[in-house]
Amino acid sequence: MTRVTPPSGATRAPEYPRFPRRHLVVAAIGAIAVTLLLALVPSDDVSASRAVVQIALPLEAPSKIPVEPVADVPETWVDITVNPGDNLSLLFGRAGLTDTDLYHLVSKAPQGKSLTRLFPGENIGFLLDDDGRLAALKRVKSPLETVILRREGDSYIAEEIRRKPEVHRSFASARIDSSLFLAGQQAGLPQTLIMELANIFGGVIDFVLDPRKGDVFHVVYEELYLDGEKYKNGNILAAEFVNQGKSYTAYRYVDETDRPGYFSAEGVSMRRQFMLAPVDFTRVSSNFNPRRLHPIYKTRRPHRGIDYAAPRGTPVFAAGDGRVTEAGYTKANGNYVVIQHGQAYTTKYLHLNKRRVRKGDRVAQNQVIGTVGSTGAATGPHLHYEFLVNGVHRNPRTIHKKLPKGKTLTQEELPRFLAQTQGFQLQLASIRQQQLALNQTDAPR
Ligand SMILES: [Zn+2]
Repeated sequence: MTRVTPPSGATRAPEYPRFPRRHLVVAAIGAIAVTLLLALVPSDDVSASRAVVQIALPLEAPSKIPVEPVADVPETWVDITVNPGDNLSLLFGRAGLTDTDLYHLVSKAPQGKSLTRLFPGENIGFLLDDDGRLAALKRVKSPLETVILRREGDSYIAEEIRRKPEVHRSFASARIDSSLFLAGQQAGLPQTLIMELANIFGGVIDFVLDPRKGDVFHVVYEELYLDGEKYKNGNILAAEFVNQGKSYTAYRYVDETDRPGYFSAEGVSMRRQFMLAPVDFTRVSSNFNPRRLHPIYKTRRPHRGIDYAAPRGTPVFAAGDGRVTEAGYTKANGNYVVIQHGQAYTTKYLHLNKRRVRKGDRVAQNQVIGTVGSTGAATGPHLHYEFLVNGVHRNPRTIHKKLPKGKTLTQEELPRFLAQTQGFQLQLASIRQQQLALNQTDAPR
């Protein structure tokens, strides 16, 4: 993962890009999803570093004659993409080489053995000399990492090419009309980024039950570019989520031990011991589930948990780090999992379609422990979730307010945090203003 040093306010004034006022009014859903894809602001230097690593040869070096690279003759590589089921022998055959060539490379090249483990989608390039022998082999492990093995005499020299993507900063804003997932999609955010956003705020917002029509979010995130083309998304740098009128903000901060995390403007960690909604909310088509009567008993008999209606197969997450104390089946619970978190807390997950953990397993927060189903006494697919404190059932929706807050940055670290995040705070404020102006323009007269 590439970590990008945020521009410091001391060396570079925060930039306020002019916003192209491109906004989408999606009439079909009646949502105003405003995409503010700004004139992309590069926040890092453009550079593709080319590190050449010379690896000492393990065998007898016959001569010391320096080999002059022939720079003016263009190299003609034969590039082959690795398909499932391919092995090096097949690829060599396709490039017109023999198993003898292959054996020579694997046994004499540094890291030659690692070549026998190829992955579908990787690219292997072959360069042949005038005699039709292998002069070099190029392995493109990823857009960022290439290794070239060049024959020199009876052996090979490895050359590693590492590239650094160009980092742009991007912005998105959206107003929620039916679900966070749809709003995010309309703002042009990929699902992984929407999930990340939900993870950041998952300790304070229940993304299945809390979002309301009119909720707004703003995100500042990185986009990584290679050769002028988007390669992938980077980190979320800052985000604000306004849920039912209450605003939550989070800033990415890398602490002195190099550990990244998300913190509120006051320097309190967003990471909580428990996620509120232990279910993949992107599968829930509407985030506005009304509180329902019990699907089987149809009465308000004591219901000691909370039900999340979701399609069968929706991933169910461990709400927090812990250990699986039960994973089994009963007629009432169906497939169920119980997780113990430290001494005091227990969470229970009922009516699962599939269990993905076993008794005794250690689980991490957000780890998939099963999928939503309707096993046991359930009419339709839903997750029944319970939260117990010292063996007593508590309301999972409200208990988090009584649990310890995330850790706060120390007084020593706070100034560093503020220096790192000041630019993001200004950017969020700027996006907020812009969004406000757009909303006023769009308001019906
Ligand atoms: Zn229930």
